[in-house]
Amino acid sequence: MTGRLEGRAAIVTGAASGIGQATADLFAREGAMVLAVDLPGKGLAEAHDHAYVTPFEADVAADGAAERIIGKAIETFGKLDILYNNAGVSRNALAEVMTDEQWDITLAVNLTGPYKLCRAAIPHLKESPAPRIISTASVMARMTDYGLSAYCASKAGVAGMTRTLALELGKFGITCNYIEPGAIHTGMTGASFADENIATIWAKKAALRRLGQPIDIARGALFLASDDAGFVSGHGLTVDGGLTLRT
Ligand code: NAD
Repeated sequence: MTGRLEGRAAIVTGAASGIGQATADLFAREGAMVLAVDLPGKGLAEAHDHAYVTPFEADVAADGAAERIIGKAIETFGKLDILYNNAGVSRNALAEVMTDEQWDITLAVNLTGPYKLCRAAIPHLKESPAPRIISTASVMARMTDYGLSAYCASKAGVAGMTRTLALELGKFGITCNYIEPGAIHTGMTGASFADENIATIWAKKAALRRLGQPIDIARGALFLASDDAGFVSGHGLTVDGGLTLRT
């Protein structure tokens, strides 16, 4: 049986852990060649044992990183079909006391880095028969909680950026979509959800009465990357088990 991404060349950022690790693995199992990107020292190479996954250490927020990452994909695969901006950080603090450093890194990793990756990828995506830009936003692109001003700003920014890219790039056949995960058990949330009370509260908030797992989001990303989503663009795909259905 052929995979749903047979022969496609993909980049997945934040691929050493959580959603990015699961997605890089799922894309590879569906036949894609994947450049798995994460920070140095995060165990990226150990996180993947699939022959189709090429680890590449880079900080998506660093100067020149976008050109290095896209260049590595072209050097390795000779083309690019799918860019999945997934790397993210959350530096939570009440707005009154948030430091410049907390604000700046959140925006740099979650929004500016992805924008620069999109910009560098566009000329190559124009050459692809099935080009895709996907980004991990969050339900916090449209909701909020205490301490999340930088995080919410960055994720709402991803949504707005994606809608604009979808509009501008549609004439080249490039689809641009974002995913809104709910409460997912990953590296980012692992410390909180290690507390059984907190895990139970968040599980009960979701209509499906459980926390999400990285594979739940990876399956959403696979749909958006696949031919099945060929006429879906500018869309925010909520994958939250019904977390945000009610107030
Ligand atoms: P995670 O911490 O398990 O994975 C994030 C990965 O991004 C890590 O491996 C980390 O090293 C990497 N990363 C961080 N900064 C980077 C940088 N500058 N350059 C390259 N890589 C970098 O967390 P996760 O939950 O899998 O996060 C993936 C995405 O999902 C993030 O964008 C996050 O905001 C989003 N998200 C997560 C949840 C959740 O409940 N876990 C909910 C909504 C959205």
